[in-house]
Amino acid sequence: MSTTIQTKTPTVKGPAEWFSGDVYFNAYYSGDEPSRARLNLVRFTPGARTAWHKHAVGQTLHVTEGVGYVQSRGGELIEMHPGDTVHTPAGEWHWHGATADQFMCHLALWEAPAPETGEPETTWGEKVSDAEYPSAAR
Ligand code: MN
Repeated sequence: MSTTIQTKTPTVKGPAEWFSGDVYFNAYYSGDEPSRARLNLVRFTPGARTAWHKHAVGQTLHVTEGVGYVQSRGGELIEMHPGDTVHTPAGEWHWHGATADQFMCHLALWEAPAPETGEPETTWGEKVSDAEYPSAAR
């Protein structure tokens, strides 16, 4: 392997079982062993958010545009802005997404667990309900 510009990956619509609303992502990096790093750019339209989920090895989000939310199970709602970097620890249930009235884009960096663990990178749970989602004007 030499240093090269990678082939562009298509922008993919986030699957309806993992997201509420319209979400698009680009997978910019998915390392081959021994690298297990993953880097995506995720674009959330207003009101769109992930379902509840957890990452086996945690995840770091870096907001590039707009206004968004991140919340851990039982934790306070955190408003995120461009330039904010947010880490969710390994195995912690959480969701993230746009506010009701703004787009939000973030880079998402995470790692796959070691193959011998047999653990999935991300475990998905139920949707973030309209009651859980802060749809009131900020
Ligand atoms: Mn996450």
